[in-house]
Amino acid sequence: MKFIADMHCHTVASSHAYSTILENVESAKEKGLKYIAITDHTGDVPASPREWYFHNLQVIPRIIDGVGVLQGVEGNVTGPSGVVDIPTLMPNQKLDWVIASIHDCAWKGKNDFESCTKAWINVSKNESVNVIGHSGLVNYKYDYESVIPIFRDAHKLVEINASSIFVRPGCRDNCKKIAEICKKCGAYVIVDSDCHIATHVGRFDSAIEILKEVDFPEKLIINSNLEVFEDYLRKYTNFFN
Ligand SMILES: [Zn+2]
Ligand SMILES: [Zn+2]
Repeated sequence: MKFIADMHCHTVASSHAYSTILENVESAKEKGLKYIAITDHTGDVPASPREWYFHNLQVIPRIIDGVGVLQGVEGNVTGPSGVVDIPTLMPNQKLDWVIASIHDCAWKGKNDFESCTKAWINVSKNESVNVIGHSGLVNYKYDYESVIPIFRDAHKLVEINASSIFVRPGCRDNCKKIAEICKKCGAYVIVDSDCHIATHVGRFDSAIEILKEVDFPEKLIINSNLEVFEDYLRKYTNFFN
């Protein structure tokens, strides 16, 4: 399986990650990737960058050393309302790439099955969101069967996060279940490294293993096909504008 993009990469700006944008780009190029997204944390994640950091992302060239660099964020789903704390930018400024993820430190309210289901249904209505980030969390289970078709219809990409196996204990079965339902209902997944150091850009092995176990169709892995991926970027992001 060949991949052309890693759309979930952190930098030193997240303060618990250890590489720069340029180091991530260099690593992406070495691994033959055509695109990366810079998706640092925000909001209540401790010591995450503030609005000015995201505002000034616009100084970054769209293409560095042959690699397309999308200016993004990993926003927090903040509770059952599904509000994602995307930083406020200048009028008419929009980030290229938004991942919505649940993190304990930024979640407010109950995290029972019903509240999490409601949260993800509400996130799917947010037009700014591209990716449903690492949603296999053990303590935030939602109704995969009913919500994943809603993600599909809203053109959200369901992330199979390769770091989850290492840093989110116990979530593997949930990730596998999510992959199975994506396969069954024809929802696109995106395989991401969620790297916090440049050497891990494009490190997808643990996610690929899950997809192989469920015999996941390659045509539904959006970042395994350049044409399909660029078509998505044209339709649902500002990257080529
Ligand atoms: Zn995360
Ligand atoms: Zn992340």
